[in-house]
Amino acid sequence: MASTSMRGMRLGAQTIENEIGVTYADKTKHEYICANGHSNDVVFAADAELPEFWQCRKCSELGALVVDGKHVALESKSDRPGRSHLEMLLERRTKEELEEILKERIAYIRARRAHGKAEI
Ligand SMILES: [Zn+2]
Repeated sequence: MASTSMRGMRLGAQTIENEIGVTYADKTKHEYICANGHSNDVVFAADAELPEFWQCRKCSELGALVVDGKHVALESKSDRPGRSHLEMLLERRTKEELEEILKERIAYIRARRAHGKAEI
């Protein structure tokens, strides 16, 4: 078989790595309770940042994280919508990187325009 061929894998949580010598991360179990009172135990790595909400497995409601018998930050959540596209972008790239990319893009568009090929 040619050495350049690609090996296919099913999509999903499979890996070709074997498990010998692997140390598993510590895990902790957390409870999420939905508006219908269903309790959902969810296991996270011990050092994972816990989401405040988790989809209930028994109904379509969102379960809220419960710590010491209390819902965590249910009220304060309402005035804080999810992260914007810009916030997510800024987590991946610095402003300097983004300005560099913008400059490159503008130069590219100007060059295309100069040749009468630009679409905008
Ligand atoms: Zn539920």
